[in-house]
Amino acid sequence: MAMGFETESRKLLGRLRDAMAGEDAGQARLNKITHLIATSMGCEVCSIYLFRDADTLELCATEGLNEAAVHETRMKLGEGLVGRVAKKRTVINTPNAPQAPGFRFMPETGEEIFSSFLGIPVQRIGESLGVLVVQSKSAREFSADEVYALEVVAMVLAEMTELGAFVGEGAAMSARHSQPVLLPGTVGQEGVAEGHVWLHEPRVVVSNPIADDPVRETERLVEAVDKLRLSVDEMLSMAVADKEQRQVIETYRMFANSKGWMRRMQDDIQSGLSAEAAVEKEQSVAQTRMSQSNDPYLRERLSDLDDLSNRLLRILTGQGSDTGAELPVDPILVARNIGPAELLEYGRSLKGIVLENGSVGSHAAIVARALAIPLIVHAGRITNDALNGDHIMVDGEQGIVHLRPDDMVASAFRDKIAMQAEAQERYASIIDQPAQSKCGTIVSLNMNAGLMADLPSLQGSGAEGVGLFRTELQFLVRNKMPKRSELSALYTRVLDAAGDKRVVFRTLDIGSDKVLPYMKPNDEPNPALGWRAIRVGLDKPGVMQMQLQALLRAANGRPLSVMFPFVAQLEEFRAARREVDKTLAREAKLGHKLPATLEIGAMLETPSLAFAPRQFFEQVDFVSIGGNDLKQFFFAADRENERVRRRYDTLNVSFLTFLEGIVARCAETETALSFCGEDAGRPVEALCFAAIGLHSLSMRPASIGPVKSLLRRCNLDDVRAVIEKARARGEMSVRADVMEYVRAQHQD
Ligand code: PEP
Ligand code: MG
Repeated sequence: MAMGFETESRKLLGRLRDAMAGEDAGQARLNKITHLIATSMGCEVCSIYLFRDADTLELCATEGLNEAAVHETRMKLGEGLVGRVAKKRTVINTPNAPQAPGFRFMPETGEEIFSSFLGIPVQRIGESLGVLVVQSKSAREFSADEVYALEVVAMVLAEMTELGAFVGEGAAMSARHSQPVLLPGTVGQEGVAEGHVWLHEPRVVVSNPIADDPVRETERLVEAVDKLRLSVDEMLSMAVADKEQRQVIETYRMFANSKGWMRRMQDDIQSGLSAEAAVEKEQSVAQTRMSQSNDPYLRERLSDLDDLSNRLLRILTGQGSDTGAELPVDPILVARNIGPAELLEYGRSLKGIVLENGSVGSHAAIVARALAIPLIVHAGRITNDALNGDHIMVDGEQGIVHLRPDDMVASAFRDKIAMQAEAQERYASIIDQPAQSKCGTIVSLNMNAGLMADLPSLQGSGAEGVGLFRTELQFLVRNKMPKRSELSALYTRVLDAAGDKRVVFRTLDIGSDKVLPYMKPNDEPNPALGWRAIRVGLDKPGVMQMQLQALLRAANGRPLSVMFPFVAQLEEFRAARREVDKTLAREAKLGHKLPATLEIGAMLETPSLAFAPRQFFEQVDFVSIGGNDLKQFFFAADRENERVRRRYDTLNVSFLTFLEGIVARCAETETALSFCGEDAGRPVEALCFAAIGLHSLSMRPASIGPVKSLLRRCNLDDVRAVIEKARARGEMSVRADVMEYVRAQHQD
């Protein structure tokens, strides 16, 4: 790059900085900037368009276009050349704008007389903030140097917009981070919460985008990159055993040593940016490419570069992820994604969690569910919209996040929370009462758990026992296989905490969406139908035996209940039972105490098991219906797929008839039966299950109150009659009829 050009660019940035330093209000600053750019680029027009809302751009300042058009001319994302620059996040450089595809004539600006057009996206770390445009009468294409210079200026504008430099009286735009935002997402865990944003990885704020001592800035950059390389090497030496982790860090190292990356940042500094702004500029370019690429490999690599740039920014600004800031009151965690172990560290201190990525079945979601913290996933670009401490409301019923809500929204939301709190009080008043319906049937209500942290709920929720203890959580939240002694210590604590209440331990249920970080991932075409749960257990008996031993030792002479997940046929259950017998014999030989009683159950999660030979029902000590899986296989509708997840109602007559068949088979052999999928915790579903003879249910602790309250108000004989009638009429689902019955009970 020519030296002369760099000096020009630096001069322009110097002037911009002086313009920013004054006491002017936001609008005056913008006006000065457009004037400076137009003059120094020798163009008749320079205009700045900023986003008014997520898809509307507004002309906020101009030199050369009609003054009266400022704040009047608006365009949608993708509309006209300006809208196209913003939408595609690419530069448009054309000598003949009226002929360019997408050109839209805007008479209010007097634009038709300008032939050449150069539009540059104003963006900060992948977030689109607006468009910077220069135009001139002469039909010329702007040179690469000019484009580059304007990109650098756009970068500075982005930083300034972010810092709120254009806010104030008569300002072009109100602060981007002060407007209310409604973000629709997907419910990962139900519940409502109000609190303040706690960013898992706070945004780095760059307050000095322009610098006029390139030598000093280059030194700062080189020093920071050196530190970065050292820290990457350190990470590498710590991750010796883990091949995958090593691969990621190797990629980091490759980027950290990349000459191209370094050279581009040094060029940016030469043209007047500070070291931080240079890092951000290259990061923005990578982010744009990431958003446009369909190649998963390239996306992964670019996301590695993104992580690395964040690290570098933290080194340069001294703003670590540990900024020393304290958790705000009622913290609501906001993150792109978070691992289960990190989430556990926050534990119950969090009121809610909002993730930009993540999925309903992710490990973080499993932990959030176990901790009963409302969780929304896929919440737009919340990490860009939210600032630490922002007021935020999480509606885990509707799947909506209100960021900086206005008063009306906030008060409606608080009414909702108050109603729920009232209901909780009502539930607390029946905590010691049995879940007995009006016809006298007592339903056993148990809770699902998976963490030690769940156990206090056993006393508080009124649960009779733990109907499902998901043991895989202990495996998922670690980065290496837990030892037998660790597991046995944990199970001991669980049994101690439960006292004389029954705990049903489910053996390791991994595979499908639950992938252990330290196990080689299997590239399966259809993991939900793949190598998972008991299939892994039987193929790798070592892990199963280790877990069984840990359970037997934890019981230490007390009663023990164990069940195997995902049993599809009798032979699998028999094989699992043989493993139990072998382990028992070994433990006895080693002189360990055997449990006082040992029940071995199977989860019925595949339709096939409902049709197993009678011998299965005779040999198994109890059956627990894993409704989440059973329903997905019954309807062939993936439980993780938002498009089909809710398509089939649990109260669909076909599914209820199928469940009735299972009830009947268990009744024939007097085999104990329970239901432990999420549906057991939904009051109307639970009522129908009880009515068709499922008298033992296991659910989230928070559901026990609502389920019990409804059961106590209803007569199961009547509900059964309602179901029969709906079935006889040929209804697809019994829901509407049962709901009508339930409403009538509320009015009594
Ligand atoms: C189920 O499938 O219903 C179940 C309880 O197991 P998980 O949700 O852990 O697969
Ligand atoms: Mg399951």
